Amino acid sequence: MLSVDIRSLDGRAVELEGSIDPEDAVWLDGDIRPSSPVTVHGRLSSAGEGRYYFAGDFRGTAIGECTRCLIEVSVRAGDSIQCLFVESGEDGLDDDPDVFLLDGKSSSIDLRPAVREGWLLAVPTFVLCREDCKGICPTCGVDRNTTACSCASDGDARWAALRERATEP
Ligand SMILES: [Zn+2]
Ligand SMILES: [Zn+2]
Repeated sequence: MLSVDIRSLDGRAVELEGSIDPEDAVWLDGDIRPSSPVTVHGRLSSAGEGRYYFAGDFRGTAIGECTRCLIEVSVRAGDSIQCLFVESGEDGLDDDPDVFLLDGKSSSIDLRPAVREGWLLAVPTFVLCREDCKGICPTCGVDRNTTACSCASDGDARWAALRERATEP
C-alpha cells in the first residue's frame, strides 16, 4: 500500500512497500509510463506537527526507443526519493519540488504523486539499444546493424557539408 493513514503513525515510523501499476490513475497523459509495476519501498515518519517525511526508493522498467535506430528497448529506471508532506502551506515551501501539500480533509498520505515525479526524472530520455548501435543510414534509410549499405562511409552528408563550411576561409 502506498497510502498511509496518518492517524496510524502516531509519532512512529512505518515501513512501506508497494507498487504502482502502469494503468494507475496517478499517471497523466504525456507521462512516460512504466511497462511493469514500479516497486516502491521506504519509511514514512512523523517530522513534527503536521509534517511527515518519506525516504525510500523505487524501481521499474519502461519501453524506450533507441535514439539511433528507433527500435524499442526496455530500460530500467530507479532512484531514491526523499520528500516532505505538510498539512498546510508554509511560506517558502510551495516552491520546493520535494514538498507535497496534504489535503486538510484527508487523513491519509498518498505517496504515488511523489513517486511519479521521481520516476519522470529518472526515466532516461536518451536510450541506445546497445553502446555501438550503428543506427539508420541517413542516406538510404537501412538499419546499419543488420544491413550493410554502400553509401559513402564518411557518414551523414549533412555533417560533411558542415565540415566543409567550417574549413572555409
Ligand atoms: Zn539502436
Ligand atoms: Zn545507406
